Amino acid sequence: MARETFGECGPRERAVRSVAYELLSRGRELADTLETELAAVCFGHNVRDVDQLIAYGADKVYLVDSPDLADNQEDYLTRALLDLIKTYNPEVVVAGATALGRAFVPRVASILHVGLTADCTGLAINTEERLLLQTRPTFGGNIMATITSPSRRPQMATVRPRVFKKARPDLTRRGEVITVPFDKSKAIKRYDIKQFIDEVTETIKLEDADIIVSGGRGLGKPENFALLQELATTLGAALGASRAAVDEGWIPYSHQVGQTGKTVCPRLYIACGISGAIQHLAGMQTSDTIVAINDDPNAPIFEVATYGIVGDLFEVVPALIKKLKE
Ligand code: FAD
Repeated sequence: MARETFGECGPRERAVRSVAYELLSRGRELADTLETELAAVCFGHNVRDVDQLIAYGADKVYLVDSPDLADNQEDYLTRALLDLIKTYNPEVVVAGATALGRAFVPRVASILHVGLTADCTGLAINTEERLLLQTRPTFGGNIMATITSPSRRPQMATVRPRVFKKARPDLTRRGEVITVPFDKSKAIKRYDIKQFIDEVTETIKLEDADIIVSGGRGLGKPENFALLQELATTLGAALGASRAAVDEGWIPYSHQVGQTGKTVCPRLYIACGISGAIQHLAGMQTSDTIVAINDDPNAPIFEVATYGIVGDLFEVVPALIKKLKE
């Protein structure tokens, strides 16, 4: 039982979050390389879809189901994860770099005096030394660093949603669900949550979008985002942007894609007037199909593009809209 890899899923929605399936899909490959078991940890109250965690690769699911975990009470989640790690001694713990994962998983690492690599964009295994190779951008995104924790266990990392792709679930897989009681008397609760207020938005959220139309500095001025919005509306797409466009004040930060913005993985990503800096690519290069429109044939975006259109976006985009509307 000593050697396991953990994934995380979130409590508030009662359903397991997509990032847990993504981590289990990659975790399965890592656990197979290590020839070890893969376990998922599930916190919440009346959580649904626990069997799905097995279908996505878990050999075991530790289910901590308690009314005390119905809300995102970070102090309780910290205690619950800490107790599990102390009991089962996993080699590796991987969690989603969601708002919640970022809030409580580093606390667990700190209490255990182990390192944690945040926002990894790649995870691999060094089999000889049983090390988790944790890759993430560093020095302003100009280089990729691979970090290891040679002397302390567990090796801990967080990964942003949509960095890894979900595997196809195997509904015939068999696994074990182990119910673990939660003892809140050991937790110090430092605050109360009075109310959750859901974000209200009328447009498609970037993270949920199947299609994203993104604009960069090549748009030249804020008004030109209206052209991209028209393309996005025609396609039923969400609107994204490069940091340059956001820094210029042409579009709010919530639209920014990239290392310091959102990580997205839509079926189709259309980059218009975006050069393809490494920090932008970090947030979108796993998209299924990438279409780049840029008037510079040497723009780095063409290196990741499935289809590249070398041309003036002010000619190409209206022509696309016209054709799509037909
Ligand atoms: P540019 O690099 O200026 O590219 C504009 C492109 O538009 C050019 O390729 C040009 O050929 C093309 N163009 C111009 N006119 C037209 C036209 N009429 N038709 C077609 N093409 C045209 N960037 C991000 O995007 N996301 C991040 O999260 C992010 N995080 C960062 C974090 C750090 C720590 C740092 C240091 C940088 C970060 N950046 C990020 C910034 C990044 O390095 C680039 O500066 C930025 O992505 C450039 O944006 P851009 O491609 O829109 O602009």
